[in-house]
Amino acid sequence: MSNALNSTLEWQQEDRDHHLHPFTDIAQLSKKGVRVITRGEGVYIWDSEGEKLIDGMSGLWCVNLGYGRKELSDVAAKQMNELAFYNTFFQTTTMPATALATLLSEVTPAGFNNVFYGNSGSESNDTVVRLVWRYWDTKGQPSKKTFIARNNAYHGSTLAGASLGGMGYMHKQGPLPLAGFEHIEQPHWYFNGGDLSPDAYGLVAARKLEDKILELGADNVAAFIGEPIQGAGGVIVPPDTYWPEIQRICRKYDVLLVSDEVICGFGRTGEWFGCQSFGFEPDLMTMAKGMSSGYIPISGVMVHDRIVEVLKDSGDFNHGYTYSGHPVSTAVAHANITILRDEGIVERVKTDIGPYFQGRLQEFVDHPLVGQVRGRGLIAAMELVKDKETRKGFEKVGEVGMICRNHCFENNIIMRATGDAMLLAPPLVITKTEVDELMEKAHMCLDMTAKDLGFM
Ligand SMILES: *Cc1c(COP(=O)(O)O)cnc(C)c1O
Repeated sequence: MSNALNSTLEWQQEDRDHHLHPFTDIAQLSKKGVRVITRGEGVYIWDSEGEKLIDGMSGLWCVNLGYGRKELSDVAAKQMNELAFYNTFFQTTTMPATALATLLSEVTPAGFNNVFYGNSGSESNDTVVRLVWRYWDTKGQPSKKTFIARNNAYHGSTLAGASLGGMGYMHKQGPLPLAGFEHIEQPHWYFNGGDLSPDAYGLVAARKLEDKILELGADNVAAFIGEPIQGAGGVIVPPDTYWPEIQRICRKYDVLLVSDEVICGFGRTGEWFGCQSFGFEPDLMTMAKGMSSGYIPISGVMVHDRIVEVLKDSGDFNHGYTYSGHPVSTAVAHANITILRDEGIVERVKTDIGPYFQGRLQEFVDHPLVGQVRGRGLIAAMELVKDKETRKGFEKVGEVGMICRNHCFENNIIMRATGDAMLLAPPLVITKTEVDELMEKAHMCLDMTAKDLGFM
């Protein structure tokens, strides 16, 4: 039996012996040993050696409210004592499940008044696939089955999630994607835009969707799915022209539009949902992560009234999870969203801390390694490149990002690297002083990386 008195070395050995980590090279981690995280408060976490780290990634893009909010643990304890579980299958509900559904209909854009619950972003994207298939079957257009997504998109790690996603390194380990999942170019102006202005390139990238629909035949295409800003793919912020054009094309060919709001939702971009920041109106939205600020697993699909109207004629929907609408998860999510709303946290990202954060990041534009700084609200990336003049990246993509990420980890700042882009998405409650600390440490680690490479 383990106890709190175990040393870090003992924890590392137990972990090595018994714990398989996600997206991790088992042998490599075993050699190195895990870092044991023990405590969190606000934007900080501590490890078992007593080191204090500033968390520039909100855990895994999820701890929007920051760590240690006692209101959330109180709600969980109270709900567990009162009713730890009941299902929503047997024509039953629990008060928290229904109350959260009502609250979600208030904070989501007009026309979204119904939620289907899951426990993870991946599960909710699976639900989207099942719901959309039912929709077209009910409409008498059963041939509309294919989903179109983007290269380098992340939609989760289940079979449907990984198929919707455009991650080559995941597909390679399957036979993936499954049949019926197609991909188009991602709207990454910096590397793909050539001599075009960002706005001109945004239209070009969007029209790849039209090309794909025409290639497959509109009668076969069920839906297009995208993250408003691609998160795990490297915080790819599309040009402003992109999403309105995508919407125009979807409507023209009667293709449903799905916004994967798992990262962008709940204030990350300065609006409640990313689609509001980019001016489009999806038919379905998936949400997870910030929905509970990561305090407990929960996810949902918000379904627009125009889709619900059709589904009402479709009989039983043979899909669901034991924990769909779990009373403890929904109670915690309700408390989280109430705090986000009542403390004006989303508004603050839009008008105050978001602009401050993005403004300070602009200082990195002159750094010898940084080719582009991009972001919105409290999500951003710095693209590290070999040649700023020609927008040319490093030959072996990911090597420099890893060097920088390791400097960060050793210097107690959490930044994630995707390829050679350094990513930041701090808790939405971060203060200006804490942003300053984040920037100072990021600067130091970028300088260390530049020196390693002989750029400084
Ligand atoms: C994290 C993520 C998912 C998957 O969520 P899980 O809870 O890990 O299953 C889906 N979509 C996006 C955009 C994500 O960032």
